Amino acid sequence: MDNSKKNVTIIGGGVAGLTTAIELSQYSFQVDVIEKSPFLGGHGIQYACKATDRCVKCGACVVEEKLKTAAALSSIRLHTESQIEKITQSKTYSVSLLKRPAFINPTKCTNCGICFQRCPADAINRGFSTGNQPLFAISKNKCLYFKDGSCTLCASKCPEDAITLTAAETTESFNSDAIVLATGFQPYNPEKKPYGYHRFVNVITNLELEQMLRRHSVAQRPSDGQAPGKIAFIQCVGSRDAKLNHLWCSKVCCGSALRMARLIRSRQPEIEISFFYIDVQSFGKNFEAFYREAQNEIEMIRSIPADIYPAEDDSLRAIYYDSSTRQSHEPIFDLVILSIGMLPNPDNSQHTEMFGLKSDPFGFWSYESSSALTNGKGVFTVGAANGPMSIAETVIQAEQTAWQVYNDLVIESNNAP
Ligand SMILES: Cc1cc2nc3c(=O)[nH]c(=O)nc-3n(C[C@H](O)[C@H](O)[C@H](O)COP(=O)(O)OP(=O)(O)OC[C@H]3O[C@@H](n4cnc5c(N)ncnc54)[C@H](O)[C@@H]3O)c2cc1C
Repeated sequence: MDNSKKNVTIIGGGVAGLTTAIELSQYSFQVDVIEKSPFLGGHGIQYACKATDRCVKCGACVVEEKLKTAAALSSIRLHTESQIEKITQSKTYSVSLLKRPAFINPTKCTNCGICFQRCPADAINRGFSTGNQPLFAISKNKCLYFKDGSCTLCASKCPEDAITLTAAETTESFNSDAIVLATGFQPYNPEKKPYGYHRFVNVITNLELEQMLRRHSVAQRPSDGQAPGKIAFIQCVGSRDAKLNHLWCSKVCCGSALRMARLIRSRQPEIEISFFYIDVQSFGKNFEAFYREAQNEIEMIRSIPADIYPAEDDSLRAIYYDSSTRQSHEPIFDLVILSIGMLPNPDNSQHTEMFGLKSDPFGFWSYESSSALTNGKGVFTVGAANGPMSIAETVIQAEQTAWQVYNDLVIESNNAP
């Protein structure tokens, strides 16, 4: 069947959006993926492969693979730095896009990184994607050219002449037969928790540890770049927290943090790791064996520290109560990792209203496992925008969603009287 005249717009270029796009292109649809940030791949593209002596199925490589596949398909148009300005519905959806300027021309840029090295204002964002995707983007907020016109160093030093600081915003409009919302999650900002995040330089989040391991392969103290002697992981920061009314479990953090802890131990066996938790939430047929091995390498402490204080040499003192011995302890760590949870994307409320969707009391969309959520008008939701889930679950849901779109646009409409 020729579906090539049907178009589907996907909002969000993370693994949910990219996988849905790839699947839809296999049903011969034309697909537009709208990504608001300069880089595709969402949160998952920032994650390190956590294989030790064997693959631990963390899913990080899946995101990269989906990105490469989507970028190579001519039926998929990938729009970065773009967002929906307006969508109206008559017979189909009429989509208006606002595209912020790509100051670095992706067809000319070779990702050499000279702009990144030479920028005096730290205004070049460096992404994580590989393959044929751009790795650098200019941050207008930091760039001196946009402040006072005082610098054009990146443009003059670019050997490919790929940088045009005068590039302007553009708009684009097209019609679409269905809309897929794949807008993902927002990581919890732990600044208000008593752990000194953004006050103590050696307190970082699990997302920042992912990025560190992806870029440098090893754990380092941000204060001096040295290997930490002792690391603490604190789980459930911003999840399962009645005070915040975040009652849900973010589901992926225990597994992901344990995999990172074991990766660090395998690469830097001299580092001691303590893991503070409420209870370990992770599932899967291989998890028990994995967890038993982890317990041999990591000190597991069933308690959540109440507070963190600065100690000598940018180290940190964690205070916790051990209910089994009824004693308080104050161990010192060189690096503290806060395992922050997944929150609903604040953009969800705008889309909920725009498309008449249902959301749960926390702001995630309600996805019914038997079929992709649809408002019956060609709007579908997929991935972590529906609630915390792993990359593997996201991929499965994206495949189901693509099937649901095909079913609604082709099978149902052919069967219509
Ligand atoms: C710290 C941490 C570690 C994790 N580690 C693992 C792991 O090891 N293994 C695993 O399986 N899972 C892990 N996860 C879960 C994993 O991140 C998710 O499963 C995955 O990111 C979900 O993909 P997504 O595409 O639904 O959402 P996202 O990755 O959030 O992507 C959504 C995309 O949509 C874009 N977007 C949002 N709003 C708009 C808008 N209005 N217009 C246009 N674009 C928009 C965003 O910029 C983003 O690119 C981890 C999660 C966290 C928080």
